[in-house]
Amino acid sequence: MLTAEQRSRYLEVLKNAGNRTRSELCRELGLSYLELSRVMAELGVKLPPARRDPARMNVPRAKLEEMIRAGMNRSQMQIALGLSNRGLMRLLKQYGLQVLSPAQRNRQYEAQGLRQCIECRQVKVLATDFYNDRTNPLGKNRRCKECLNRWSAWHRQRKKLAQAETEAKPSRTPWADQGLRRCRRCHQVKPLATEFPESPNERGGRSVYCRACHELRKQQALEKQRANELAAQGLRQCSHCHQIKRLNEDFGVNRRDRLGRQTRCRDCQRALNQQKRQAVLRARAAQPDLLTTALLHSGGVRPTQAPRPQPTLVPTPPAPAPATPTSSASRPQPTVPTVSTGPQPANSPAARLSALSQASGSTDTPRAAA
Ligand SMILES: [Zn+2]
Ligand SMILES: [Zn+2]
Ligand SMILES: [Zn+2]
Repeated sequence: MLTAEQRSRYLEVLKNAGNRTRSELCRELGLSYLELSRVMAELGVKLPPARRDPARMNVPRAKLEEMIRAGMNRSQMQIALGLSNRGLMRLLKQYGLQVLSPAQRNRQYEAQGLRQCIECRQVKVLATDFYNDRTNPLGKNRRCKECLNRWSAWHRQRKKLAQAETEAKPSRTPWADQGLRRCRRCHQVKPLATEFPESPNERGGRSVYCRACHELRKQQALEKQRANELAAQGLRQCSHCHQIKRLNEDFGVNRRDRLGRQTRCRDCQRALNQQKRQAVLRARAAQPDLLTTALLHSGGVRPTQAPRPQPTLVPTPPAPAPATPTSSASRPQPTVPTVSTGPQPANSPAARLSALSQASGSTDTPRAAA
């Protein structure tokens, strides 16, 4: 639907169209050809039939035949004659001529035992002037022998140049010639023959990991397998106290964890939180304008590592009792190691430094189950 404003503007232009072509009108009104015809239908405007240039259409039959014989396709002929595709088609129909598409022409040639070379465009004898090539139609290459020879020579030269270029570049693994290898995990360069375990399916018959990393990976895989076995029974080993406890009851929620639970048990986590709070309080006492959030987000302090005992299984009750104040009070409270601030006065620079380093110096322990 047209607005009144558009209607008046289009009507004015179309009334004064004179003998301008439709494409000129399209450009002036900012419409596509289809939109223009819709507008004309809606406004009930009729334009005189499209103007033709009769001089351009005066092409003798002999000229067209000559072009076809020269192997020109339709778009080449359009450009040479200054005609549209429609005009050319009208001419060809008028003279009863036909321009074959490249595929049609090739089929015609091949029926006569000929082929047009895709490089030099000459039509040659298929059986003698083309090399055998099983990957191409009729078992012959699409370039004639001369062109293919030139083409392969060019390719050989290019390949040689590329090879010379790569050889000129400095090697990315200069240690490889000296019987060394860089470990994929620790990135240290070590002797291949002694420091890398044998592995028949890998490059050079040796592992890509050095012995130390190989052992570490084996151990990690075992730990993960063991954690999976425990998880199947609803258990997890605490990454801090190493006791095996019930996964859902004794570990807090952590959505980023593989099993959706924290890696430290609730007792260890509580002790850690308490230590963090104490560190913050100490740092605050030493430096009152310190931001608490900055301290907390810097990782806090790590609780002193407990000696690793033999894993002990905490007997799991058949149904967990509902949490009551008495049951939580009866649970053994973990002892929090107190960190003495030392004999320095509380506000001295050394005290501030030690408080800060205790609070933010250590990073969080990596998750064991990850
Ligand atoms: Zn050729
Ligand atoms: Zn390594
Ligand atoms: Zn624990």
